[in-house]
Amino acid sequence: MSTTLIPPPEGKGRFSRGIHPPDNKHWSGQKRVSVLEDPEEVQVPLLQHIGAVAVLHVRPNSQIDAGGLLAEAEGMVSAPIHASIAGKVGRPSKTTLPNSRRVDAVKISRNPEAPSRGHELWSKLSASLWNPEAAVSFSSGEILDRIRAAGIVGMGGATFPTYVKLKPNPAKPVKRLLVNGCECEPYLTADARLMEEAAGAVVVGALCAARACGAYRIDVAVEDNKPEAIAALKAAAENTWVRIRKVETKYPMGGEKQMIRAVYDRVIPDGGLPLDVGVAVINVSTAAAIAMAVIHQEPLTPRIVSVTGPGIVEPRNLFTPVGSSFAHLVAACGGLKPETRRIISGGPMMGYTVPSLDVTVTKGVSGILALTETSVPQGGETACLRCGRCTDACPLNLVPARIVQSTRHRRFDLAKRNHILTCMECGCCAYACPAGIPLVQWIRAGKAEVRKAAPPKGGQ
Ligand code: SF4
Ligand code: SF4
Repeated sequence: MSTTLIPPPEGKGRFSRGIHPPDNKHWSGQKRVSVLEDPEEVQVPLLQHIGAVAVLHVRPNSQIDAGGLLAEAEGMVSAPIHASIAGKVGRPSKTTLPNSRRVDAVKISRNPEAPSRGHELWSKLSASLWNPEAAVSFSSGEILDRIRAAGIVGMGGATFPTYVKLKPNPAKPVKRLLVNGCECEPYLTADARLMEEAAGAVVVGALCAARACGAYRIDVAVEDNKPEAIAALKAAAENTWVRIRKVETKYPMGGEKQMIRAVYDRVIPDGGLPLDVGVAVINVSTAAAIAMAVIHQEPLTPRIVSVTGPGIVEPRNLFTPVGSSFAHLVAACGGLKPETRRIISGGPMMGYTVPSLDVTVTKGVSGILALTETSVPQGGETACLRCGRCTDACPLNLVPARIVQSTRHRRFDLAKRNHILTCMECGCCAYACPAGIPLVQWIRAGKAEVRKAAPPKGGQ
């Protein structure tokens, strides 16, 4: 493989505005991934992706192996779901997702006779023998079929079915594949550990994904606060055409628009997608899952979850069967400290506060964060000071105070004209606001009203 045809990097590794919150990666950043033992039961949600609910494929009371097909994809935008542990299938039930939504699920009660597959899967994923040449032995169609069959979705939280994203579209061809290793949310360390401990899988997965979508350039973007991950990826990518791009540590560098600006100096038009500038973006965890699916034909059933923050007795990064409860993971980390005040699924900027630990890990859950009194922002809300700090912080050049003012006065027409639907809910404005105004909450509520008035037509 040659690197001579690859054009030089175009971006400067930066984007304008944004914020620098404390990264707080020290809680779990140095903890190597450990395999979580199978729980007594899992509640596997039938909706772990954007699109239609998967359709149950097995009968209650039947036995299923780990990795067996539990539910089929339904429709064009959907993903199949597989059993994350071996055991007895229960009756259809409901479970709670991290965003508090109640969805259809199926319980699997562990078969004590069947060996746990977690250690075997982690050994494969973290092996040092990943061969980059393997990607070229598959056609684009074969790779897409395996990605689809494995139920892979965007593991950075978007949960969009990956085969749909990578399927070649002659109207909008993909030229560049950008792999997101930024993990810019404070506290979270799952992706960083994956890059350090399973760099070979990330590189091979990226090569497979590029072959599937037809990209002729691959860049893995990693923030410069992860030197060990950068070194591991560079070693794994040696003699391949995968480029490792060090970018500035700044929130929200992992946003698609910010990353594409930083790496390629391209601007996605308002309301547009990365494909509009010829780029497909996938997360590093998704890339590793692609490698497991294409090379080993393993479905996506476990993922790394950071259980972290000052409220956790022993923070860890756990290789976890999907469908495990948050309570099971937290117990494996010694439990919560008494001073814990808030549990968040994901990071503190864009995650969801969960009311209890009776919530299920899905393919898109990268972290469980426990915050204590001193780590939760304090202070009440005061009137807007018109200081403009929210505008200075917004990476999308919006005027958050103006959007929120329109929303508060129920002038949703004005909110729309002020580009409320462009907001990515990154939280930079609220972080910067000295008046403690919950700007993102107002924006979310305003968006719902705007969409009610003019629901989006089809699409994603
Ligand atoms: S207005 Fe939206 S995009 Fe801009 S900083 Fe606030 S949350 Fe982020
Ligand atoms: S940062 Fe807060 S106080 Fe300042 S203008 Fe924006 S909303 Fe008002």
